[in-house]
Amino acid sequence: MIADNQPGHIDQIKQTNAGAVYRLIDRFGPISRIELSKKAQLAPASITKIVREMLEAHLVKETEFQEPGSRGRPAVGLVLDTEAWHFLAVRIGNGEITIALRDLSSKMVVEQQFALPPADPEPLLQRIIQLIDQFFVTHQSRLERLTAIAITLPGRVNGQAGIVHRMPFYQVDDMPLGPELELRTGLPVYIQHDICAWTMAESLFGASRDASDVLQVVIDHNVGAGVITGGRLLHGGGATLVEIGHTQVDPWGKLCYCGNHGCLETVASTESMLELAAQRMQASMSSSLHNQPLSIENLCDAALSGDQLACDIITGVGGSIGRILAIMVNLFHPQKVLIGSPLNRAHPILFPAINACIQQQSLPDYGATLSVEPTEFLNQGTMPGAALVKDALYNGSLLIKLLQG
Ligand SMILES: [Zn+2]
Repeated sequence: MIADNQPGHIDQIKQTNAGAVYRLIDRFGPISRIELSKKAQLAPASITKIVREMLEAHLVKETEFQEPGSRGRPAVGLVLDTEAWHFLAVRIGNGEITIALRDLSSKMVVEQQFALPPADPEPLLQRIIQLIDQFFVTHQSRLERLTAIAITLPGRVNGQAGIVHRMPFYQVDDMPLGPELELRTGLPVYIQHDICAWTMAESLFGASRDASDVLQVVIDHNVGAGVITGGRLLHGGGATLVEIGHTQVDPWGKLCYCGNHGCLETVASTESMLELAAQRMQASMSSSLHNQPLSIENLCDAALSGDQLACDIITGVGGSIGRILAIMVNLFHPQKVLIGSPLNRAHPILFPAINACIQQQSLPDYGATLSVEPTEFLNQGTMPGAALVKDALYNGSLLIKLLQG
């Protein structure tokens, strides 16, 4: 994702160019300086200067390679130098926090999970800081130069200011997580809503790598979406999310915690689905769901083995999601729709239901070129945090800090 800001002055131009060159080396390396100059559309002298600085900072290194189509002497190409640089990727979820050390290629060095009970009386900010300290102490011997901290979490987040306004599960009121951690560690801190960051991760490393316009829908405890348009995350810097979970699908439906009635989330969240299944089971004694504990996994398996009740519930959710998606397809004309959900276990039932709705209810030529696919990553782990750091390298903002030492 290339920085969208129009370069206003020399520093901004330097940042944008350095980010673009770093990105090209990452994507095409080993790559010669000449090739880099062509692809970046920058003068050879500018490339030489940017590359020299990156070499001196050990962010890139030279390597001999055979240029495609050439049988002559090996050429000197550039590749990223990532191993001696680490960052922390943190994920906060319901009752737990995962902290990982990764190198700049996003490869994991070590990952650890800690309990983070919502009911604990100690303020959440203090607990997060203590656990990060504890992680540093435990893994001190493996630490290389630290570059950044990236944190992903559910809730209302202002990524630019580093403030977490509200969170589900935890009592949080405008928590200054970013500024506080920056003060303590001296590192840049990147914070993003977990669905937005997951959408970036799929775009940078996962299932939507080859697409510039993508809708990613998450169906889990909450229902939300991330949108990539023209290669960039919609609402990336601000406090807003694409809140499809709170779009009304049933005006006479259940009251939602947001204050509205019949929101998508009240019919399509995993909890709502299980509630509906339990209700319908009372009227259908023949369902195989009676023979096992009611869970999303068992609901999917029952549907896959032909249980009618389970199939109906999953198809119904697919229809509700598909109706909203059809509207979004008309708005954004994406190449790809990604579904991230524990329901993907029953994708042979869920995906056709979603797709049928999109095909029926969106513009024919918009729907025709579209594919509905599962996300590559699950709703866990710290790849979304890695995506925040990668994005900050590509737009040059983090890279400039590393170049300046
Ligand atoms: Zn709602």
